[in-house]
Amino acid sequence: MARERLYLFDTTLRDGAQTNGVDFTLHDKLVIAGMLDGLGIDYVEGGYPGANPADTELFSQERGFDTTFTAFGMTRRPGRSASNDPGLAAILEAKADAICFVAKSWDYHVRVALETTLEENLASIRDSVRAAKAKGREVLLDCEHFFDGYKANPEYALACAKAAYDEGARWVVLCDTNGGTLPHEAEKIVGEVCKLIPGDHVGIHAHNDTEQAVAVSLAAVRAGARQIQGTLNGLGERCGNANLVSIIPTLKLKPEFASRFDIGVSDVQLKSLAHASHMLDEMLNRAPNRHAPYVGESAFATKAGIHASAILKDPATYEHVKPDAIGNRRKLLVSDQAGRSNVLAELERIGIAIDKDDARVSRLLDVVKEREALGYAYEAADASFDLLARRVLGKVPNYFDVTQFDVNVEQRINAKGERVTVSMAVVKLKIGAENMISAAEGNGPVNALDLALRKDLGKYQKYIEGLKLTDYRVRILNAGTQAVTRVLIESEDENGEHWTTVGVSPNIIDASFQALMDSLIYKLVKAGASA
Ligand SMILES: [Zn+2]
Repeated sequence: MARERLYLFDTTLRDGAQTNGVDFTLHDKLVIAGMLDGLGIDYVEGGYPGANPADTELFSQERGFDTTFTAFGMTRRPGRSASNDPGLAAILEAKADAICFVAKSWDYHVRVALETTLEENLASIRDSVRAAKAKGREVLLDCEHFFDGYKANPEYALACAKAAYDEGARWVVLCDTNGGTLPHEAEKIVGEVCKLIPGDHVGIHAHNDTEQAVAVSLAAVRAGARQIQGTLNGLGERCGNANLVSIIPTLKLKPEFASRFDIGVSDVQLKSLAHASHMLDEMLNRAPNRHAPYVGESAFATKAGIHASAILKDPATYEHVKPDAIGNRRKLLVSDQAGRSNVLAELERIGIAIDKDDARVSRLLDVVKEREALGYAYEAADASFDLLARRVLGKVPNYFDVTQFDVNVEQRINAKGERVTVSMAVVKLKIGAENMISAAEGNGPVNALDLALRKDLGKYQKYIEGLKLTDYRVRILNAGTQAVTRVLIESEDENGEHWTTVGVSPNIIDASFQALMDSLIYKLVKAGASA
């Protein structure tokens, strides 16, 4: 039987950005959009052009993604024409492949919140869809509060959905905006909608207020919907949105769905899901949820004892799916087999060929375990892992030695009588037989250290000219007797390549120094510089 296509729509950058404490910069949005694109997500909703400068900037140029890059916005305001609405104009001008409009579909909201007539709201939907179609965009309509609206006035809720569909919207998306709808209710209501609008034009957008957003989404698919909207890690306001990180493996690995549907995420892309989930947490400076289904560190962890030995004999005995399918790993406390294959997979990924029985693989695994226990996070710091592996395998030239550094923070009153803080760093290094010294001022101690370190690297300077730091994140680990600081630094070079390095120390300057050094040396290794 031919499988049907099911589409995934990610709104991490729009609805997910409503999460308390989440504030994406333009750079963050581009990195996350690239990650979603790489995962094979069909639609990535970038934001709301015209609503804030970062989102307007995001849609000011073509971004060249494979995904259908989507702009979000409101339908035209009541009482205005489509051509005389600046908000609508900003969305229509956005460099986007698709436009997702949001419109009210609950009669109560139309009257009370929008203060307009039911007919004017329908006209606004029709006009907005028509205007976007005329601009050559694919169009989606998010029907806000659809389920509550349907319960209050089914004819009107359906009329809103139908108006968009009849006008040529590719998708009509049923939103459970309050997040209170239960799976069996969603299944019934979506089934009613699909009698009027073909299911391959119907989407579901669920919120997690009863912790059933994933279940509601799957129920909607059973009832005929063929697009699922959600976010990475279930990000979203209040209790979050439907979690695509749980939905994707369910669709790919559970026979009920896998036998009926194809999604845009390939088996290979599925293997990068755990990594994507953890990367997002790192960007948000949050500890990943160890107990997250499929991708959490504990999702396939089993205590030592009879379970572990049974798992070694046959993993299927205790696991509902294979952990490596989503890029996670089995964690057994009695054996390092799982860790070994994980390290081998990482080495292969970064292009280091080594025999799987080579004794150095075990040594590398021991070093990784030791350092992860100290707080290093290699999953988030690909470049530091690369260097560590090359060092254990004896392949990193000793380019230079930092013999001493000195960082000074001074607060004083300047000539204008203002209190200012100035940081200065001095770095002494030895390149071959040559001793060098550089000093720099910065807007903070780490910035000063970075500038001094990169000021003069002698014969290596030409390799690092295009290097710049694009992100710097600090986390304080284990609040036990002694807190340690983990620093993650993201760097970029002239070719637009990105890499992340890590440093750990009780001292934040020292942790930063380690991460800065790794970044420089990684760049030299990558550039093929010789000692
Ligand atoms: Zn929402």
